[in-house]
Amino acid sequence: MIIVMSAGATDQEAEAVRTQIRAHGLSPHDNVGTQRVVIAVLGDVAPVREHLMSKLNSMSGIQSVTQISRPYKLASRESHPEDTVIEVRGTRIGNGTLTIMAGPCSVENREMMLETATAVAKAGATILRGGAFKPRTSPYSFQGLGLEGLQYLAEARQATGLPVITEVMEPNLVDVVAQHADILQVGTRNMQNYSLLTAVGKAGKPVMLKRGYGATIEEWLMAAEYIISSGQPNVILCERGIRTFETYTRNTLDLTAVPLLHHLTHLPVIVDPSHATGKRWLVRPMALAAVAAGADGIMVEVHPNPDEALSDGEQSLTFDQFADMAGALRHIHDEVRTLIKDPYVSDGPINVGGDSKH
Ligand code: PEP
Ligand code: MN
Repeated sequence: MIIVMSAGATDQEAEAVRTQIRAHGLSPHDNVGTQRVVIAVLGDVAPVREHLMSKLNSMSGIQSVTQISRPYKLASRESHPEDTVIEVRGTRIGNGTLTIMAGPCSVENREMMLETATAVAKAGATILRGGAFKPRTSPYSFQGLGLEGLQYLAEARQATGLPVITEVMEPNLVDVVAQHADILQVGTRNMQNYSLLTAVGKAGKPVMLKRGYGATIEEWLMAAEYIISSGQPNVILCERGIRTFETYTRNTLDLTAVPLLHHLTHLPVIVDPSHATGKRWLVRPMALAAVAAGADGIMVEVHPNPDEALSDGEQSLTFDQFADMAGALRHIHDEVRTLIKDPYVSDGPINVGGDSKH
């Protein structure tokens, strides 16, 4: 349920509404970024809906009360029609410009991190990536440099001016990662790690939530809901491929997710063709396709010498390949931006399978 207060509503009137919500065992949540006071009602509304509605009907200062049909309330377009635009160190994500996140899979050492950061910055990257804590399928694979890696990332930010995104895997490491990074990344394997989602939601930094490789779009948006309801409204969604029966590619890139998400949610959408395909030569065409489909940006892996990379070399671009692709992406972005219709306004209602499960 969403309550929109009228333009002239007083603070007392808004507070009376919040008090009434609490009196029904529910929580009021103020929607940020909107012109007037908009209060979302969180919790299980169904058993008290009629009683609460009758109370609200007799209160002053309320313009409208709308029921939100989707189980993810704060992440839904219904609760927040305008796009969420996220600003990090002067760079905006989700405002119609093209976001390009680039850098190595893992921070391997200081030199390669600085060299890669300089190269991707020169070629037009807007955000620098690099893994310090690495989720590896094998316990015998390189696990990342940890804290030392975070320090090299901060140094690379200093050298290039690019904001830094890096993955955090454990709730007890959220604070230290948040001290070094501008955006916290939650990886595919942790998309439904609810204690981690709650912890990153409280850390005071924007979060990029990668899609679980076996997650439906609804499960993904419910995971985003955990982060927003824990206090962090600036969530970026990253489609990075899902597991299917196909084995030529590492995962199957679900590009349908891009317009679908723009319809269902106000959150920015990024596509990662590196982890989706697992193959260097497939990264460029899928990055171009993602931008053509309306993605707010892409995330790609870049390495000074991919054949020597300690992780994900097969899918990492060389500096030249990245520069070439970044130019092509800008070209596509400039061409298609005006062609993409607003999927929220131009489309009819979508019946998402499983909408009622939560
Ligand atoms: C990454 O981006 O570094 C990563 C590990 O990706 P994913 O979680 O999508 O596998
Ligand atoms: Mn990787």
